[in-house]
Amino acid sequence: MIVGLGISGIATAIALHKAGWTPVIIEKAPARRGGGYFIGMFGSGRAAAGRLGILKNLHNRKPIPSVSYEVDRAGRRRPGIGFADIPEGPWMVLRGDVERAAFDALPEDVEVHYATVPDAIEQDADGVTVTLRNTADESTRLERFDLVVGADGLRSTVRTLAFGPPGKYLHRLNCMIAAFALAEDLPGLARGEGAILAEPGRSFWVFPFADRPSTVLFSYYTDDVDAEFTKPVAERIREVYGPEPLGEMMEAAVQVLESGDEYLFDSVEQARLDRWHRGRVVLVGDAAWCVTLYAGMGATSGIAGADLLGAMLQRYPGDLERALTAWEQKLRPYVDAYQKSGVSNRLFFTPATRAEQIRRTLMMRLRRVINSSARLSRLVARSKQMRLRNEDLAAA
Ligand SMILES: Cc1cc2nc3c(=O)[nH]c(=O)nc-3n(C[C@H](O)[C@H](O)[C@H](O)COP(=O)(O)OP(=O)(O)OC[C@H]3O[C@@H](n4cnc5c(N)ncnc54)[C@H](O)[C@@H]3O)c2cc1C
Repeated sequence: MIVGLGISGIATAIALHKAGWTPVIIEKAPARRGGGYFIGMFGSGRAAAGRLGILKNLHNRKPIPSVSYEVDRAGRRRPGIGFADIPEGPWMVLRGDVERAAFDALPEDVEVHYATVPDAIEQDADGVTVTLRNTADESTRLERFDLVVGADGLRSTVRTLAFGPPGKYLHRLNCMIAAFALAEDLPGLARGEGAILAEPGRSFWVFPFADRPSTVLFSYYTDDVDAEFTKPVAERIREVYGPEPLGEMMEAAVQVLESGDEYLFDSVEQARLDRWHRGRVVLVGDAAWCVTLYAGMGATSGIAGADLLGAMLQRYPGDLERALTAWEQKLRPYVDAYQKSGVSNRLFFTPATRAEQIRRTLMMRLRRVINSSARLSRLVARSKQMRLRNEDLAAA
């Protein structure tokens, strides 16, 4: 049983099906979700997605040529560096693109049960008994499985039921994000043009695509994560990004937030666990290792981790413990590196202080110099950090 119909859950279902298993997916929501926000899909994810039949349903929305500006509230702009400028960088897609591509690759005989959640998980030597609840009519039933996969995201119920309460594993980075997709390009930006406004403690990003309007991201620091959820999100954004006038671009984005209800507003937290499996229960994706958006590797590692899990189950048939242990050993160094970058890259996304803002500006200038030289770009593309992002995990 796989809990969660997100990127990691669907990819795991495909990988397990390929390995000869009969996966069943349960999803808390009453139907599939769409839309989402910008996602950079790095080489590790693309290699795995190719093997799982997902990549053929995806296309790169990267604008060519790519144009990104560092902007201020007065509308001044100078050339900046965006995701599209990273040498050997990622495909630029939406989370909804990846979920749809994965769902379209899901074999037809994989059952999906919506409006269904696990209420209890009990395991013994031969299997796992799960109490399933249908949230539409509140009925419950017991079912027996060989393996339970928790792919139910950062606030995983499977993790709580099988590993313990969230306080043990979730580490707040004291940042909040609001992310959403636009139906029209923002004023002052042509199709394919991105923008970044980075101020001490708060930032605003416009992620451009070649063939659809942008997605936007507000990212800011907070001293009190719990208090953040007590007000409507647009009101909170106006407070945090005020009292100065927002400027034309941010004002237009906040108005979209005020008029719609499709957005993600959440605190940024990492899941840190010493191990990702306990007996016949295993966690995958954000449930296991949420690296945060600042690492830019959550979707990539969710797909690559799922693909590798299938490969290990196939390599050690009949020996679940060995397969899961080998899977963790192989995956751990990559995830550790992504988690570290999730913390260090915060500076690039949202400088905390004036000193960090200055450091960020200098770093961006250096990156522009590097990008203007083919030789230096090649060196960056071959760096250890980029290798970890682009390596084919199952083949490495
Ligand atoms: C703004 C932003 C930008 C990002 N940028 C990038 C990027 O550039 N590159 C990248 O690789 N990643 C990026 N990420 C991270 C990436 O989006 C996530 O890591 C990835 O989508 C996680 O997928 P998942 O399937 O593990 O979890 P989720 O997407 O959280 O899916 C979990 C699923 O489980 C379901 N569920 C939850 N609880 C239950 C339950 N009790 N019972 C049944 N079902 C349940 C949920 O409804 C959901 O469908 C970004 C994230 C954000 C927020």
